[in-house]
Amino acid sequence: MAVLEKFRPNLYIRDFQQLDLAVLKDKGIKLLLCDIDNTMVPPDQKVISSEARAFCETAKSQKIQVMFVSNNNQKRVEKFVDDSGFLGIWTALKPLSFGFAKAIKKAGVSTRETAVLGDQLLTDIYGAKRSGLLAIKSEPLVQRDLPITRLNRFFERWIQKQLDNKYPHETGVYYD
Ligand SMILES: [Mg+2]
Repeated sequence: MAVLEKFRPNLYIRDFQQLDLAVLKDKGIKLLLCDIDNTMVPPDQKVISSEARAFCETAKSQKIQVMFVSNNNQKRVEKFVDDSGFLGIWTALKPLSFGFAKAIKKAGVSTRETAVLGDQLLTDIYGAKRSGLLAIKSEPLVQRDLPITRLNRFFERWIQKQLDNKYPHETGVYYD
């Protein structure tokens, strides 16, 4: 697989609220691993939003397990876990497979039944693809990023440009 392919999302969406759970079910997905920062809430928002919570509850009601897999710290992720009742992995070290593997084991599903939802090509999408998981790219909720993310965004823009050139029909195209 060419290197660029490892950064190529399987699905693009604008944000989690636009994710069609029926599409995931059709693909046999039973576990959805959600990034937190700029995917479920803005990076500087400490509590889960009612929209994010509603989304997780809807997925659960449709027999898709939800877990949070974040590179952020224990304090950040535990607050999310406590507020939502869903499980979470902190310090996941995405794009390494460690955090994803831990979540998949906990959920008792296979890699083919697992999807990753995230806003970053370098961590979420690359991590998902190299672990053989379905990769869903959402737009960052806000322009503000954690300091650690800013450098990633620089490389991300370059990779996105290569993807735009090679796959002009699919990049940034959203379904409604
Ligand atoms: Mg993120």
